[in-house]
Amino acid sequence: MKFVVAVDCEGVACAVGSPGGSINQSRDLEFARLQATREADAAARGLFAAGAEQVIVWDNHNGSLNLHYDQLDERCDIALGVNFPHRFPGMDETFSGVAFVGYHAMDNTLDAVICHSFSSASYQYMKVNGQEVGEMAIDGAMAGERGVPVIFASSDDKGAAEARRFFPGIETVATKHAMGWNAAVSKHPKRAVNEIYETIQKSVPRVGTLKPFTFETPLTFEIRHKRIEAAQAASRGSGGWERVDPYTVRRTLKSMHDYF
Ligand SMILES: [Zn+2]
Repeated sequence: MKFVVAVDCEGVACAVGSPGGSINQSRDLEFARLQATREADAAARGLFAAGAEQVIVWDNHNGSLNLHYDQLDERCDIALGVNFPHRFPGMDETFSGVAFVGYHAMDNTLDAVICHSFSSASYQYMKVNGQEVGEMAIDGAMAGERGVPVIFASSDDKGAAEARRFFPGIETVATKHAMGWNAAVSKHPKRAVNEIYETIQKSVPRVGTLKPFTFETPLTFEIRHKRIEAAQAASRGSGGWERVDPYTVRRTLKSMHDYF
């Protein structure tokens, strides 16, 4: 049994942004990186305790290089850096599952902490086949295209609910009660870590029953930009984006892999 723990930073306990900015401009960034490390470590230890033979921790927030690697359980392998040929570096179809730690809700979510889809500065929303999606659904589909299911997600309560909606039957941990872009009542970081360690273990015996998440293909990918000139540039570039309205572009993809 082999797993990937994909790690973002916005969804960990006691992480919020600062007014007008993302987590990257927050005074909280260093704590968020440490807490993401602890939560990733808890997920990995839980997976090993439940019988995993390999766990790859993938550090994927904002150009990677966020985690304190020497504080991760030493049985982990670590995927770091950018410009891999595909998301989930090191994973192939022999893996049993992927887990999301520190993930956040999609754009257009009411009162979720730093909810966005890849870039809060650039996009209003993303839709696949007419349905609004965020990073969990897109990454879930990237894993699903290689036959690997999502088995676990930790995030704020809004992100955890989004995960259960896209991936029915998975275990989730809500690290904090989100009350706005930069507002949360968080679980104590140590309690969040303990819950992740305990809860992820429950998902391992069920991996055989969880289906890989996929969209029907070919898929229609639609992006509503925040800036009108960004939509214009996309529609006049070589990417094959067709203009739907002044702010929105759309293209057809053979698979989610083609987007990256
Ligand atoms: Zn992030």
